[in-house]
Amino acid sequence: MIGWKFESDKTLNRGHREKTANQKRKGPGEKTPVQRSAQYKTKGKTMRILRLFTIAVVIQIWTGAVIYAHGQTVPTEVKQAMIASISASNRPAGGDTKGGFHEEGGMWGVTTDGKLVILASKSGPTSVKCGDGAHLLIGDFVQPELSANLATILGEWHVHPGGIREATTGVPGCVFVQPPSAADIREAACPINIVIGASDKTVYFYGLTGTTSKTKLKEFLR
Ligand SMILES: [Zn+2]
Repeated sequence: MIGWKFESDKTLNRGHREKTANQKRKGPGEKTPVQRSAQYKTKGKTMRILRLFTIAVVIQIWTGAVIYAHGQTVPTEVKQAMIASISASNRPAGGDTKGGFHEEGGMWGVTTDGKLVILASKSGPTSVKCGDGAHLLIGDFVQPELSANLATILGEWHVHPGGIREATTGVPGCVFVQPPSAADIREAACPINIVIGASDKTVYFYGLTGTTSKTKLKEFLR
């Protein structure tokens, strides 16, 4: 009976009820209260093991879902377009004669007939001095005609440049902020929003509440 105090209320109640019924039925082969107690103790142990097992399975599924959401839902083709964006941001474009001083990015989605569409944006303006904020018009596509049959936008990405801008007041120079900026977070409108730091080689997932997770570029591309 002492063991029962560790059991749940449900087990206790059920045990009590069955004991009462048992008392009415008197006959040969009847289990003694000690035998019954041991039986319920084993049942309780099994329930605890089952419960722990269920929790373990739920955690595993949840972890798997998180990994899936942050890695696999970005199609390989989009990941390749992201690599191209990093290279493009590091290379000269427009007024950025050295490379590393402008943003690149794009969007992806599906067409009305379910095909993947990747829309690369035009290179952003050059920002070579500290304090010049880099930006990108993500909806200004290189090939706008590709968006003709676009049914759903699934995600967007842009690269925060890796160059070191010129100092304006005696400081040696300044890097571009690598994680999503306040403006990025404010405008996070897609189901998946990604900033890639060209310098810290980190992939940041963010939404309207801020950065939701980050992963090393190497891991992301695996
Ligand atoms: Zn940004």
